[in-house]
Amino acid sequence: MAVAESVEQRADSFVRSPHRLLIDGEWVEAASGQTFETINPATEEVLAEVAHGQAEDIERAVRAARKAFADDSPWRRMNASDRGRLIWRVAELIEEHADEFAMLESLDNGKPYHIAKAADVALAADLFRYMAGWPTKIEGTTVPISALPAPGEYLAYTLREPVGVVGQIIPWNFPLLMAAWKLGPVLACGCTVVLKPAEQTPLSALRLGELLQEAGLPDGVVNIVTGFGDAGAALAAHDDVDKVAFTGSTEVGKLIVQAAAGNLKKVTLELGGKSPNVVFADADPESAIIGAANGIFFNHGQCCNAGSRLYVQKPIFDDIVAGVADQAKQIKVAPGTDPEAQMGPLISDEQFEKVLGYLDSGRGDGAEAVVGGSRHGDRGYFVQPTVLTHTNPSMKVEREEIFGPVVCAIPFDSPEEIVPVANDTNYGLAAGVFTRDISKAHRTAKRLRAGTVWINTYHVFDAAMPFGGYKESGWGREMGHQVLNNYLETKSVVTAL
Ligand code: NAP
Ligand code: MG
Repeated sequence: MAVAESVEQRADSFVRSPHRLLIDGEWVEAASGQTFETINPATEEVLAEVAHGQAEDIERAVRAARKAFADDSPWRRMNASDRGRLIWRVAELIEEHADEFAMLESLDNGKPYHIAKAADVALAADLFRYMAGWPTKIEGTTVPISALPAPGEYLAYTLREPVGVVGQIIPWNFPLLMAAWKLGPVLACGCTVVLKPAEQTPLSALRLGELLQEAGLPDGVVNIVTGFGDAGAALAAHDDVDKVAFTGSTEVGKLIVQAAAGNLKKVTLELGGKSPNVVFADADPESAIIGAANGIFFNHGQCCNAGSRLYVQKPIFDDIVAGVADQAKQIKVAPGTDPEAQMGPLISDEQFEKVLGYLDSGRGDGAEAVVGGSRHGDRGYFVQPTVLTHTNPSMKVEREEIFGPVVCAIPFDSPEEIVPVANDTNYGLAAGVFTRDISKAHRTAKRLRAGTVWINTYHVFDAAMPFGGYKESGWGREMGHQVLNNYLETKSVVTAL
């Protein structure tokens, strides 16, 4: 069954249009003339042909970004108020095209249309609106220096300046939203950028590129090069890029750090996770069940912050597991364009095989699937929402990021023992705590080594709230005013009076 005809038609006309690279304000073919295919994960059919950008295209795009960052460029001369107004306009344009973006995300990524609209698209617009307020508030300070060996009268102050040309590499799990998280602060801080979307999901970023032009962004400020990891690698290694921001796997994050060493460009990383969701015996069972299910099944488990290790205190373990299993059974798994879909296919054949491989490995190690445990249907990359029990910390399913709708439910005895267990991971992105005891809730939140802790809820995001990881989950923070630090340099100016 179709959503609204007109929405499908609008998205379809964009899907069928040529998909080129955005370089210096022009839509251009890749230098090689090559294209690659993106796949609709619900049907396994080709969705669109997209320009295959490679190192030579990254070179052209970086040159454009450098030119747009020149001292006398229109972008550098634009005042803070106008920059804010432009970013605000981007938010409005995203909202005006919300249906179309939701459909593009659904076709390209597989996520349900109505969820893409309510979550991805709404949050993307809100991120730009939040960032629109910042250009007029990026301030330095005046500093009362003593200048001990050279006493005198001074005026000393700091300036906050854009870091320069930025390279940004984003993943496929929230294609539009990750583009927004990345581009919003770049524009607020007055940088210029080359964005490399994930090869699986380039469409919404390209549509956003068109809207950035419509909003009046000067040429070369945002350049978009679609392609594979080699394009990302060329961007991360480029000597004329001042900073690289990456979201994706921890494995590639480490490659980015190495690539960035050549010119010591600044690096921020938002990487993987194996986040603990801790349910104490005194939790409200209903909110714990909903929080645990949402924590793992939202976006088909393809969230860096998914609550994939569910620790439940023994007295209520069976009830909570039964409740989460019941939630899993009720989830309508269907193509994202089905108005009733609550969970779509995984993103790709590769990811589908990877998740099924983890299910096999869990079974081989003695884990039991209370619900799910295999593929859903026989076409498209659908996997059943799955709850595993009888796992232990030596099993891959309990240690490694699965990035699919698979949770390990693990019983624990006492509140004292659980924090070190929850922290026993190389990751540190997020965590959940469910309890009605406020003291226990905040004490546990304080001790968890994670960049975000949700209490009696899960997956709550806001443009004003910083997000990022401890340990191997990353460097730096996205969103909130903290993200501005990623894109600003501080200059100290000292004047003898
Ligand atoms: P990935 O390889 O880390 O890809 C993320 C982005 O990096 C994509 O744009 C990718 O381009 C690019 N890239 C790949 N190799 C690169 C390199 N050597 N240098 C620079 N950029 C490079 O992630 P994936 O392969 O799509 O997914 C693998 C696993 O990563 C998942 O199973 C999941 O565990 C994790 N993951 C985490 C997040 C997150 O939000 N933290 C998101 C997605 C995936 P191409 O797409 O063109 O290869
Ligand atoms: Mg990869």
